[in-house]
Amino acid sequence: MEKTFIMVKPDGVQRGLIGEIVARFEKKGFQLVGAKLMTVSRELAEEHYAEHKERPFFGELVDFITSGPVFAMVWQGNNVIATARQMMGKTNPADALPGTIRGDFGVNVAMNIVHGSDSPTSAEREIALWFNEADVN
Ligand code: ATP
Ligand code: MG
Repeated sequence: MEKTFIMVKPDGVQRGLIGEIVARFEKKGFQLVGAKLMTVSRELAEEHYAEHKERPFFGELVDFITSGPVFAMVWQGNNVIATARQMMGKTNPADALPGTIRGDFGVNVAMNIVHGSDSPTSAEREIALWFNEADVN
């Protein structure tokens, strides 16, 4: 069964949106297979966002994701990677449709509430980076 890595970012945790976001994926019929509230080290943040290392916003992105606890999760289900991305909405909340997580709650492109793996390759890499394999089977 397909799995994806979803994370409520520090802004979403601080605003009390963990339950809202978990509920949306549960109601869609996906299965939660692992979850933890944790503070992210700079090392993990830099590794997670390694694809953006050369981008001008990389330093701010790492500062933000390490600024407070995140809620890291693994969800399982048919086509969960692509469907979760649709449920999250566009990266910039200004472009995200109402009814999506970012469209309903996002403030700006940095404070966009949630992360989700963007492909099967990313999902595999991110799940291995954030969780012990035995905890997400
Ligand atoms: P995420 O990887 O967090 O799920 P995404 O896949 O929709 O988001 P990416 O292109 O991977 O978008 O960008 C990663 C994150 O970097 C975005 O979620 C956003 O918080 C931040 N980001 C992207 N573009 C910008 C930008 N132009 N300025 C500031 N931050 C940005
Ligand atoms: Mg991304």
